[in-house]
Amino acid sequence: MSRIQRILVTGGAGFLGSHLCERLIEQQHDVICLDNFFTSQKVNVAHLLAQPNFELIRHDITQPIFLEVDEIYNLACPAAPGHYQYNPIKTMKTSMLGAIHTLGLAKRCRAKVLQASTSEIYGDPEVHPQTESYRGCVNPIGPRACYDEGKRAAETLFMDYERCHGMNVRIVRIFNTYGPRMHPYDGRVVSNFIRQALAGEPITLFGDGSQTRSFCYRDDLVEGILRMMNGPDDFRGPVNLGNPGEFTIRQLAELIIAMTGSKSEIVLRPLPDDDPVRRQPDISLARKQLDWQPQTSLEAGLEKTIAWFRGIHLEDYRAPTPNY
Ligand code: NAD
Ligand code: UDP
Repeated sequence: MSRIQRILVTGGAGFLGSHLCERLIEQQHDVICLDNFFTSQKVNVAHLLAQPNFELIRHDITQPIFLEVDEIYNLACPAAPGHYQYNPIKTMKTSMLGAIHTLGLAKRCRAKVLQASTSEIYGDPEVHPQTESYRGCVNPIGPRACYDEGKRAAETLFMDYERCHGMNVRIVRIFNTYGPRMHPYDGRVVSNFIRQALAGEPITLFGDGSQTRSFCYRDDLVEGILRMMNGPDDFRGPVNLGNPGEFTIRQLAELIIAMTGSKSEIVLRPLPDDDPVRRQPDISLARKQLDWQPQTSLEAGLEKTIAWFRGIHLEDYRAPTPNY
């Protein structure tokens, strides 16, 4: 097989997808970026449009699509809680129909296919840190279920297509990832705190801020995704990808205030329903199978992210939903 692959990235105009497209184009692959632009804007990939090996398709993955490709990265799905809860039924359709259409396409083309799953499949975990063998604690009828259960169903579909059709599938479970090109109005904690700190607005801390997350810088994460796609054929995953460094959300707020030199004050807001109390990836499997681990500390990653936020014009960004 030629070293140059025809590669489809669904959700390719998003925060992670646009960086993945960049890396694949650098590697000389023929890249098709598919996106409906629900939570992203064309500006994320505008710099790639002039490349002869880049193609952009506006398409909704809840509808089938016919293409000829060798590999598929399935990233299409709103990822921020405010985005995926805005139209929860559509979120579930995107995860499930998106997986079915992606897998159907991969089956017809005999393509290798990778699913961007999530730490949310562990729900509000009783096991800490989370290993891949932990089956999770998800509230199936709560406000996060459209995303959590949709992603769980997508994992099921991936493994069933593998068992039924002998397909070459891969699953990565991504933990909270941040960096330049996050949508400034996505309502996620890193983008919210930086936007608020730079504007001198109150920093909205949900609950008492004692809940924890582990934050991975986007370059590290994209490297992990690439290694998984190109890793051994007998390793399907699921594999956790994330930075094991665990911080309370209050620590994150204080760090961002200090790093931006902001005069913003922290204000407390109610904790959303089903907000996970603790989250930290066990990445032993990724270390062993992919020789992967994050290289970027939270401070170093935040420095780059804050610099990017300082350089953008917020008026160029349309809020995808009112939830931020
Ligand atoms: P993002 O919102 O920036 O990217 C998602 C992209 O998918 C957007 O460009 C959006 O317009 C597109 N999209 C949404 N619905 C679609 C549909 N029906 N058809 C076609 N395109 C559609 O978010 P992200 O952070 O880049 O997340 C990318 C993937 O990684 C998602 O699948 C997400 O669930 C997963 N993930 C991300 C994180 C994280 O912390 N960033 C954590 C866990 C999992
Ligand atoms: N959070 C917060 N203030 C905000 C946005 C989020 O305190 O303005 C909290 C949220 O309640 C959660 C954590 O930060 O405990 C991470 O939220 P995010 O939406 O980024 O991702 P999640 O991991 O919850 O999907």
